[in-house]
Formats: sequence, C-alpha cells, structure tokens
Amino acid sequence: MKPATAARFVAMGICFNAMAFPQSVAFTFDDGPQLKVTPRMSPQDRNAALLAALKKHRVKAALFVTLGNGADRPEGLALAKAWGESGQAIGNHTVTHLDLNAKATTLKQYQDEILACDAAIRALPGYKPWFRFTFLREGDTPEKRDGMKAFLKTKAMRNAYVTLDTSDWRLDSALASALTERPDADLTLFRATYLAHLRQRAEAYRDLSRRLFGRDIPQVLLLHHNLINALFLDDAIQLFISMGWTLTDPEKAYQDFAYSLDPQRPSPGQSLLISAARSLGYRPGNWERLLDDGDEEIQELKRKGALPASFE
Ligand SMILES: [Zn+2]
Repeated sequence: MKPATAARFVAMGICFNAMAFPQSVAFTFDDGPQLKVTPRMSPQDRNAALLAALKKHRVKAALFVTLGNGADRPEGLALAKAWGESGQAIGNHTVTHLDLNAKATTLKQYQDEILACDAAIRALPGYKPWFRFTFLREGDTPEKRDGMKAFLKTKAMRNAYVTLDTSDWRLDSALASALTERPDADLTLFRATYLAHLRQRAEAYRDLSRRLFGRDIPQVLLLHHNLINALFLDDAIQLFISMGWTLTDPEKAYQDFAYSLDPQRPSPGQSLLISAARSLGYRPGNWERLLDDGDEEIQELKRKGALPASFE
C-alpha cells in the first residue's frame, strides 16, 4: 500500500472507529454511604440527590462501600441498599479505608477488612465481586503487591480499576470549609470550578488513552459519595453529555481489553492509565496536572475570595 493510501486508510479507520465507539464514561463513587454531617444536606438527602441525578440520566453507576463510613449501622446500610434497589452496582472499599502502603498496615489486616466488608454487602441487591483499592494504592512491597493479586484471584474479585481520576474529594473539602465559614455562601463559582476540573481531567485522560492505546477506551470515572456531588452530579453528567461523551456502566467498561491489563511496577496503583504509562516509562507533558490534588482550582478559589486563605 502506498504511503498516501495507507494514511487515508488509517484516517478512515480512526474516523469509523470514533463513530462506532464514541468516547464513553462510567461513573463510580467511593467511600459511601457517608453518614458524616455536612453543611446544607443530611446524609439521607445527599444519598437521594446522587441517586436522583443518576436516575434522571439513566446512568448505571457503582458505589464502593467503605463500611465504617456508615453501612455498618442500619441507617447507613439502608442508604447502600437504596443504591442496589435503584439498579446501581455495589462494590467493596474496605471497612476503615486503611492504606495498604502504610508500614503499619499488614497484608492480613487489609484482607480481613475486605472480607468483613464483603460479608456486610454480599446480600445487597446489585452486589458485585469488585474491589477498589483505597487511595488507589496496590501495595509497595512484593509481599503486599503479589499477596493482593493472589488474594483477589482466589476470591474471584476484580480489581475495579479507575482510569479517570479526579480531585473531587479536595474540592469537596474546600466546599465544606467555605460553607462552614459562610453557610449562605453563593456556590456559583464552586460549581464552575468543579466542572472545569472535571473537564480538564476528562480531556487529559482521554488524550493519555489515545497515546497509550491508539484509541479511546471507556473511561471509569472516580468520584466520591460527598456533598459536592450531591449538589452538582446532575451538572457533571450534563457536562460529559455536552462534550459528546456517552454514558456507559462500569460492568460494560470493564469488558474492554484495557481493563485486563496488569501493569508491572514495583508499587502499582493510581489511575490504570497512569500506571500503564509508568510501566512503559512514558511521561506526558501534562503529568503534574494529572497528579496534583486540584491545586490550581484551590488557588483560583482563594484568589477569588471563595475560600479561606488558611485552607490547605
Ligand atoms: Zn476511598
């Protein structure tokens, strides 16, 4: 094939591919159900708002339960059950959200928490044998890393990877801080800043996927069961639709070949795309913006007076 023909063929292939498989995103929520007190909304209202936004857009998402945040009490378990009853998937995210890479955490302790969480959520509607690593850290010693791979295999549990990682947790913390100081604060700027953050991460991870795989993969988005999403999830879903992305569900996304990868690294973890890039020694130009904790957004909120300067 002549180079010009080959170029046309490739261009057409990419075009057809993009038409056949538009960029899609699956929503997942960690650390829930969360019973802690926040400004503006009760835990029940936050839970209901998240489910209402998902229902409005017919999104099938997943909730990764951290048992100690609420589901170990009847009122918290009822919130988790509501997710299953509304067609959402339920996965496992330990009991106390301990850090596998911490020196003080033993492999057995970590696995015992997974088993305890599993026992509590197994009977819920929507239950899936999916495990989401806390802090997306998969072990920093051969014993922990390989021990977890063997454990998940034995228990027939999936490593419920994330590709599209966000710092929603940091902006949520900033929001709570601002509302504690001024309960009637106008949230227009917070909303805009949060949506801009999601857009920046979405575009950057889409770009990284294309660089690594030569195509768009279904992205698995990591958000949390928190106030900022209870307030703005509807807007966040609208944002992805306005960007031309389609909404898929985690189960379908995980069927993509990309999610069968097992990047070989001494200390695996973070977004699967970051992990794959690291294992290949590839470092994109926007690396820092992918790995920071929403620092630019926090600075912008401070500059505009929407956040106390003392917030860290
Ligand atoms: Zn978490």
